[in-house]
Amino acid sequence: MIIIGAGLAGLATGCYGQMNGFHTHIFEHHTTAGGVAAYWKRNGYLIDGGIHFVMRSPPGTALDTLYHEMGVSQMKLAPLTSIGKVVDETTGRTIEVTQDLDQVAHDLKAISPEDAKVVDWLINGAKDMMGKNLFSMGFGVAKELMGRFGMLKMSWEMRGFLKYMMGKNNQSVTEFCQKFPVKDHWLATVLQGLFLPQVPIWFIKMYLALLAEGLLGLLEKGCQEFVELFTNRYSDLGGEITYRALVEEVIVENDQARGVRLADGTEHRADYVVSAADYYSTINQLLKGRYLNSKIQARFDNWPPLDPILQISFGVKRQFPDTPWIVLYHLQEPISIGSQAVKTLGMRICNYTPNFAPKGHTLIQPMLETEWEYWSKLREDRDQYQTEKQRIAEECLQRLERHYPGLTGQVEMTDVATPHTYWRYTRNHQGSYMGWNPTPKLLTQIIERTLPGLSHFYLAGQWVTPGGSVPASMMTGRNAIEIICQREKQEFTTSKA
Ligand SMILES: Cc1cc2nc3c(=O)[nH]c(=O)nc-3n(C[C@H](O)[C@H](O)[C@H](O)COP(=O)(O)OP(=O)(O)OC[C@H]3O[C@@H](n4cnc5c(N)ncnc54)[C@H](O)[C@@H]3O)c2cc1C
Repeated sequence: MIIIGAGLAGLATGCYGQMNGFHTHIFEHHTTAGGVAAYWKRNGYLIDGGIHFVMRSPPGTALDTLYHEMGVSQMKLAPLTSIGKVVDETTGRTIEVTQDLDQVAHDLKAISPEDAKVVDWLINGAKDMMGKNLFSMGFGVAKELMGRFGMLKMSWEMRGFLKYMMGKNNQSVTEFCQKFPVKDHWLATVLQGLFLPQVPIWFIKMYLALLAEGLLGLLEKGCQEFVELFTNRYSDLGGEITYRALVEEVIVENDQARGVRLADGTEHRADYVVSAADYYSTINQLLKGRYLNSKIQARFDNWPPLDPILQISFGVKRQFPDTPWIVLYHLQEPISIGSQAVKTLGMRICNYTPNFAPKGHTLIQPMLETEWEYWSKLREDRDQYQTEKQRIAEECLQRLERHYPGLTGQVEMTDVATPHTYWRYTRNHQGSYMGWNPTPKLLTQIIERTLPGLSHFYLAGQWVTPGGSVPASMMTGRNAIEIICQREKQEFTTSKA
């Protein structure tokens, strides 16, 4: 079996493939595994370009099983006790969203007493979700595995959860703030910044519930430990990876996938091909559009990818002992990037573990939402691209200097990753780091893992499970092998590390 891509989905496909008697070979275009769960070292700092937090896995849940099967259950997690602090530069107001939901409700109401009803509705909704086993519901859904009455069966199994996803709960945070309406502008901005403004309200409630229950954890050793545990598991199971191997084409004969052709011209044959790479390029380039149908085309036309980010990493000779791991600044003056006026600067402060920086130093990572087209065009002129990266890094630093006097002089290392960087290393369409935009509509879509008319070919990865994420992407790898086993009338088996 050939697998395209050694991201989390490709590795999961490989592990489950090995468990089920296939000889799997992953072709990965980059020099390391992990895909967007990326990390690299610079001047003594471990730069983390990916996963911020993962769900903890209570024993007996589907997630717990997945982590054990993939060998990552021993990852070290620091408790995530706060989603972060929000700072309004214009008024100086701040709020921190912690595990204590009563305190959060109190603080939100203090921002805007006239919005007390909205706040109570939101926080009580989150509390209501606590204690429910959210992991088992709707987790790992593949149409091909549903059988004749699959949708009905799934709805029945998910009935406990579906009630949380109806009506007002299924509006995006932005729509909700407009329609409810949330009267205070800053409160609306705070709510929209809890995760992403386009996600549905049910997602925010679930996020708060998981936070309050202590079911979210920060990777103490970043993506590095997670990816290393995962690749070790794959090689222990006998799997093979070839790096620096860009797949340019899936070889198809008589509508059957037969192998892949790499950029170096070599051909590799297999009984099955699974693409755990970007969906857009898999369909349009690797398969040359031959199995593109109107349904898939409609997705490309109507479903936007998640906006990419510009991630700056500063290694600083400073500590941030009393600062939450994320601070979101609502800027008094926006930062201009191309035609965009970016109003929010998110900053990740890796102060929850000593593993990202030398003793007494800290890795901090300002992040800005930006546009693919701007960076992709700019990249055509290397000098301009470098100059712009530097300009924005300097501008971010000046903004942060206001909050952390002396910071500029404490910077020892600067690294800037643009949407183009994400594309260059992972090939994700338009530099998106989590696939499709996680809107209420898209989060409930189920994308086929097979293509009509093409046999022995399967899809995995964040693009076939809208919203992406670590567990969902890994689960798509499991799904791919489950579908293959089902079609081969072979029992699907698993083992734990
Ligand atoms: C900054 C950031 C923060 C995140 N935070 C979180 C978080 O807190 N929690 C969470 O759950 N998730 C988070 N995510 C998302 C999560 O990491 C991803 O959804 C998940 O890792 C996607 O895995 P994947 O294998 O589907 O895709 P990818 O990681 O994109 O893997 C695809 C792989 O295929 C390879 N490839 C592509 N094309 C080819 C080709 N033609 N030939 C050979 N190889 C190819 C790529 O190089 C890549 O290695 C975050 C992501 C980022 C970037």
